[in-house]
Amino acid sequence: MRRFTFKDFYERSKSLLTEKVTLSNMINDFKKLFKHSFTDLAVGYSKEKNQGLSMICTAQVESEKGGKSYSVSVQMHRKTQEEPYTIKSPCEVKCSCKAFQYYTSYQLYANKNLYGKPSRWNKTPNQERNTKNIPTVCKHLYSYIRYLVQKGVIRQ
Ligand SMILES: [Zn+2]
Repeated sequence: MRRFTFKDFYERSKSLLTEKVTLSNMINDFKKLFKHSFTDLAVGYSKEKNQGLSMICTAQVESEKGGKSYSVSVQMHRKTQEEPYTIKSPCEVKCSCKAFQYYTSYQLYANKNLYGKPSRWNKTPNQERNTKNIPTVCKHLYSYIRYLVQKGVIRQ
């Protein structure tokens, strides 16, 4: 059998990290990376700002143990004003928690799915965490996206 070389690894990661993924992909892949289960976390101060062809949603999501909250951002895009925003629309996301930074920010940055200006850390692949390069979300964004879908802001 041929040895798996660095070049193979590079080719494979390049093929993984070229296409923007949707919220639907991120939600479906969440359990591939974060195996623990939890109930939806409380969402507060949600603001949805529609700017015609894009919409920016921001909120504070409570930590699982309570007493702390994280800032989450979801930006959605559409081609025409008539089109609804759906979980299949192009999007960018961000959360202020450590799990997001360590496990998914690089993968999302590489897929052009990271909201806002990337930091130097976001541009550096993590050698130990999420080595299969699954672009997905943390539990705060997971809860927030579910909240936006339940509220009808983002359609299924
Ligand atoms: Zn988070």
